[in-house]
Amino acid sequence: MTALERIITGMIESDGPMPLDRYMALCLGHPEHGYYMTRDPFGRAGDFTTAPEISQVFGELIGVWCMNVWHLLQKPRHFALVELGPGRGTLMADVLRVLRKDEACRKAAEVHFVETSPVLREAQRRLVPDATWHSGIASLPARPTILIANEFFDALPIQQFERREGRVFERCVGVTEGRLSIGLVPSAMPLALHGDGVVEDSSIRDALAAALGNHLNTVGGAGLIIDYGHAKSATGDTLQAMKSHKFVSITEAPGEADITSHVDFQSLSRAFAKEGATVSELMTQGDFLTAMGINERTEALLRTLEGEKRQSLMAATERLAHPGQMGHLFKVTAVTGAGLAPPYPFGAA
Ligand code: SAH
Repeated sequence: MTALERIITGMIESDGPMPLDRYMALCLGHPEHGYYMTRDPFGRAGDFTTAPEISQVFGELIGVWCMNVWHLLQKPRHFALVELGPGRGTLMADVLRVLRKDEACRKAAEVHFVETSPVLREAQRRLVPDATWHSGIASLPARPTILIANEFFDALPIQQFERREGRVFERCVGVTEGRLSIGLVPSAMPLALHGDGVVEDSSIRDALAAALGNHLNTVGGAGLIIDYGHAKSATGDTLQAMKSHKFVSITEAPGEADITSHVDFQSLSRAFAKEGATVSELMTQGDFLTAMGINERTEALLRTLEGEKRQSLMAATERLAHPGQMGHLFKVTAVTGAGLAPPYPFGAA
């Protein structure tokens, strides 16, 4: 039994079954034993990997996207380059390498990281020493903003509900024979989706998206949101736990496995737009990266590489963009504040 499992078991024994959003928040963010608080989870030796860790090309193309937005914003002399959940800081380091191609753009960019994990803040500091760190979005500066979030929204807590014979239940974590297990608790939640099956809801995710939409609309700028998920709201249990690159049960090793869910982009887009921000149409990651020039950039890099390095770059590009790999499951959307239309490649014919 993990230390966190003992703590959660004690809470359930005194307060009753625990909603999944509370459970997820504790598993990921408990100050002492939370998954992100205690480790660097990335890479082969870790539990999972992410696009910027797979290839430098991913961050470089996002750097090109950011530079274009800076031009569309009429090249402000100072802007906030914000990243939510920057992981190891790899994506931002790759973005900044591209911005350096135009010294005025690099000078104008002030990097702001929204990150709760002390371990990952340390890793980020090594790659991007001059960043400013925030634990939430409320303290972000009131300046034109270009924002990036890759695999951030999937880590925010969700609740799950189920309709059985016309009655609504919430899926909660309880204790059965001394072990954590999922059970159903009657609920008064009004469900927007009809039919049987699991309905997921993330009030935390939606509230954050609404606040970000409001922020972008107030200060001006654009955000690029990348995550795995579905374009339209639908029933289905997408909660997943990962440990050492394998799926495990979400109740198996609290605090030692990453827990995420697929992002409902329809609901997320509605939340972004709630306070007046504009949300682009959704693109698949494959289409986005292709439009941004992943094939051309890969070819240019291949000319400088030999042997095994060539093979691994080609494999990485395929992994990021191929529909059978990350190219289709991962989606990309842009959110823009007042006066800015969704930037290229969104809306491009
Ligand atoms: N964007 C990175 C990391 C994705 S993992 C990449 O692509 O590699 C999720 C990141 O979000 C981690 O940095 C994690 O510590 C951070 N995170 C998770 N929940 C958070 C929260 N509520 N507030 C701020 N950061 C959070």
